[in-house]
Amino acid sequence: PQPVLAIVGRPNVGKSTLVNRILGRREAVVQDVPGVTRDRVAYDAQWSGRRFTVLDTGGWEPKAEGMAAAVAAQAEYAMRHADAVLVVVDATVGATATDEAVARVLRRSKRPVLLVANKVDDERLLADTASLWSLGLGEPYPVSALHGRNSGDLLDAILAVL
Ligand code: GDP
Ligand code: MG
Repeated sequence: PQPVLAIVGRPNVGKSTLVNRILGRREAVVQDVPGVTRDRVAYDAQWSGRRFTVLDTGGWEPKAEGMAAAVAAQAEYAMRHADAVLVVVDATVGATATDEAVARVLRRSKRPVLLVANKVDDERLLADTASLWSLGLGEPYPVSALHGRNSGDLLDAILAVL
């Protein structure tokens, strides 16, 4: 069976957009309304001649209350069932309490965890990523899932740990 990469993070950080970027096609559902991805969805991906499965998680909990627990539960699931986990945060917002709840779960992971600072659409936003070190998940990878900025570098980093 091919390795599984899970994408976790709170609603609206751009998980599904990043999944589409990784797949190179529009398949994961993206919407401006937080919480649009229902349940977990698996997709076949390929990069540099290697195949892997991408698991898009989260978003099924639209209510703010209880959201941290729900997203943390997805992170827990990902940690147990994936070979590597991408934690996506919105660099333009910074680390929220929900992001911290996710990070708390994944700091215990025995599998590789990569921290993705999404929505870094241009150079000027790079400075915003420095504060994300506080999540304790290592160096944030700045990307723009929407525009594809640095997504090739991220995919190379993913393959290196998958
Ligand atoms: P999810 O809930 O985490 O799956 O987030 P979505 O992929 O559905 O994206 C939520 C919103 O963020 C949508 O309006 C996206 O177009 C937007 N978005 C996603 N990635 C980026 C990005 O890199 N830059 C900007 N500016 N917006 C983004
Ligand atoms: Mg989604």
